Amino acid sequence: APRKRFDVIDIDPFGSPVPFLDSAIRALKDGGLLALTATDMAPLCGVHPKACIRKYGGKPLRTEYCHELAVRLLIGCLATMAAKHEMGIKVLFSHSTNHYIRVYVILVHGAKNTDKSLQNMGYILHCFNCFHRETSKNPFTKDFSLQCPECGSRMDFSGPLWLGRIADKSFCILMEENITDKRLKFEGKIRKILGLIKDECNAPATYYVLDKICDKLGLSVPSTSRILKALAKEGFIISLTHFNPKGIKTDAPARELQKLIRCHTL
Ligand SMILES: [Zn+2]
Repeated sequence: APRKRFDVIDIDPFGSPVPFLDSAIRALKDGGLLALTATDMAPLCGVHPKACIRKYGGKPLRTEYCHELAVRLLIGCLATMAAKHEMGIKVLFSHSTNHYIRVYVILVHGAKNTDKSLQNMGYILHCFNCFHRETSKNPFTKDFSLQCPECGSRMDFSGPLWLGRIADKSFCILMEENITDKRLKFEGKIRKILGLIKDECNAPATYYVLDKICDKLGLSVPSTSRILKALAKEGFIISLTHFNPKGIKTDAPARELQKLIRCHTL
């Protein structure tokens, strides 16, 4: 009965939350909050891709930003499952550590909300040769190609997954306000993560890791702040990311970033 449905459900299992998703979705009120933990990082990060496809219905990819892909695969799986019940999702917050990922999502009933949320599904394409990456919501078009537009190599892909925002800025601000005067044991750590996620949630999907690029180019690694400044000077969007202390989120193409790294390691 709808009146007996819950306001909040938190699924915090060991391993994958997917076996419990359907029951949770059905037991939640319109506008209710669903929190999920996944600890099966080996499938989600692409170490066991077949297990990820079975559980989450999307292909993972072993890239430097695989933890972000893990969050997007989990949210994508939830959006698809909720859609069967004519429910859409609104993502409030998500975060990752080495051992698990966690997402917080509001479920909203109705076919329109469902269609709207499914519009956020798609694929991330990645070139392992030159670090180029792009997103695609519809690969079934005449112009679509897996050939890298930068270097001509064949790109690999991850998905279907969630391409929409994976955290909501105003919700981050609300949380920041709420932890004041709570005397939390890890307040410093929590503030740091909230601050990073607040900044990165409107930045483009995926991030670059300087070490990885410099390793491939045979260059010494410049400081992250130097590269951030150089990118900002060129007019690109820049943000750090809580996913990786050395990660950079930017709308700069991989080739521009490589150019800047070369300039700043001379
Ligand atoms: Zn390429």
